[in-house]
Amino acid sequence: DAHSEPMEGRVVVRHGANLAVEDGKGRIHHCLSRQNIGHPVCGDLVVWQSTGEDQGVVTAIQPRATVLSRPDFNGRDKPLAANLSQLVILIAPEPEPSGYLVDQYLVAAELIGVQPLIVGNKMDLLGADARAIFTRRFSHYPDIGYEIHWVSMRDPETLASLIARLGRETSILVGQSGVGKSSLVKTLLPDREIQIGRLSKATGLGRHTTSAATCYRLNGGGFLIDSPGVRSFRLGAIDREGLQRGFREFAPFLGRCRFADCHHAHEPDCAIREAVESGSIAPERLANFHHLLGRKPGQG
Ligand code: GDP
Ligand code: ZN
Repeated sequence: DAHSEPMEGRVVVRHGANLAVEDGKGRIHHCLSRQNIGHPVCGDLVVWQSTGEDQGVVTAIQPRATVLSRPDFNGRDKPLAANLSQLVILIAPEPEPSGYLVDQYLVAAELIGVQPLIVGNKMDLLGADARAIFTRRFSHYPDIGYEIHWVSMRDPETLASLIARLGRETSILVGQSGVGKSSLVKTLLPDREIQIGRLSKATGLGRHTTSAATCYRLNGGGFLIDSPGVRSFRLGAIDREGLQRGFREFAPFLGRCRFADCHHAHEPDCAIREAVESGSIAPERLANFHHLLGRKPGQG
């Protein structure tokens, strides 16, 4: 019958085996996943079939353009969200920003293949001089092509360029506790409670689904994937080669060190260290590379 025609949809919430799938008309269906197709996650584009009023079964997961994963307790990568296109990294004058954490997120964005954006929040806390000093600390990021949007939640007009950037993309928000992630989500999604209400009503899963990764609609046509797990996402285990690829400004110098397995530490004729000395690579970026390289499993 017509009800069992395969259709395309997007997973907007996953809560255990329960999925909320949005169809092309924006209607939400409570779906279960057919076994042996893998585990759909928030943001997945899926094939599903109706099994009744607002109910269905997911029969296939479409290939993922990107996946954000987190290592589970066995160290295996566990997908958190799929098909995101932007990683929005929040910093603020308070709490004291960590360039190490920012670089960790930038590496993750490079390796996942998503566009990173840095947002400097709470600019209202700084006067003109302090602001100039603060923004200069991060000027090596725009130098290598990473945009920074300086904003304040106390002054919503400052958000215009960021909102334009979110556009029709699928973004997620990360950053240390206290930088203003919840405040930004509230500002970007004034109807978040309504969206949650709609989801929990359609799926019958209740409001506890808010602890699960949820794909919210932005006014501009894009999506914001949000959950506590996604917000506190950290970079998993990574080898030296992978890490090097995560530092985009290293690229022109890689393969030009004397030793192929150069760690860019104390080896002679190191092209990366020479690039730091000549001002082409920021010293704090190389320091964070070494810090990340020396990280033990399970360490931040
Ligand atoms: P989260 O932990 O990253 O989700 O941060 P929150 O959104 O909970 O914000 C932490 C604190 O910073 C709260 O007290 C917010 O009111 C405050 N805050 C957030 N954005 C701004 C801002 O732009 N300016 C100022 N002055 N405070 C802010
Ligand atoms: Zn080297």
